[in-house]
Amino acid sequence: MRRRFVAGNWKLNLGPAQAAALAEALRTGLADRGDVDVAVFPTALSIAAVLPILQGSGIEVGVQDIHSADAGAFTGANSPAIAREAGCTRTLIGHSERRQIFGETDASVNKKVRAALAAGLLPIVCIGETLAERDAGQAEAVVHRQVAAALEGLTADQIPGLTLAYEPVWAIGTGRTATPEQAQDVHASIRGWLRAHYPSFVADETRIQYGGSVNAKNASQLLSCPDIDGALVGGASLKLDDFRAIVVA
Ligand code: PEP
Repeated sequence: MRRRFVAGNWKLNLGPAQAAALAEALRTGLADRGDVDVAVFPTALSIAAVLPILQGSGIEVGVQDIHSADAGAFTGANSPAIAREAGCTRTLIGHSERRQIFGETDASVNKKVRAALAAGLLPIVCIGETLAERDAGQAEAVVHRQVAAALEGLTADQIPGLTLAYEPVWAIGTGRTATPEQAQDVHASIRGWLRAHYPSFVADETRIQYGGSVNAKNASQLLSCPDIDGALVGGASLKLDDFRAIVVA
């Protein structure tokens, strides 16, 4: 039985004061969330404002991106070891905005996954096809390639600690959600790929979130699919009521 996991990606929104206010609201508003893991990913400069508020609440705080090195001459980068020392427990890796805008590649995603695990940060690894790739019938091949690259060099035992987030690029921030059938098909295919390449506990235990315009209205249908183990939420994670509704779903 995989425990559900809902994560909020605040992207480049909410400075320290606004982030602290949302964290306060989440602390009380999600106190009765039941058997669901919850994490939020503030922008890096707001993490210090959010961490003390969510400490002890069971809501985890993560960093939206890391560099593959812990220290050195890498101006502007986030160190995995320093993020862990600061109190973050998780990191996003390979979000499509990082891939498309900042030139993230399958190879750099793999380096970051290894660096995160070495530092004690649990990664959420984002994968997903573009609309052109879907229209060309390549959705499954693309996500299989991305998963294989991200996991390269990991032992089977390391894999269930990380989370995969299937986020079709055409559904992120567009209001156009994958149908539950479309999402379930790809999730089942990713789980099948894991089953074919690792001992069966890896496919059984690794959580696969769906992301892409998840909101209070569509969450329960998506989250009732057998291979969808939670959600990675962008826009709707900025509003307590919407995010709460997704967690409840
Ligand atoms: C995301 O940023 O991971 C995301 C899924 O965004 P949105 O929910 O806004 O589509």
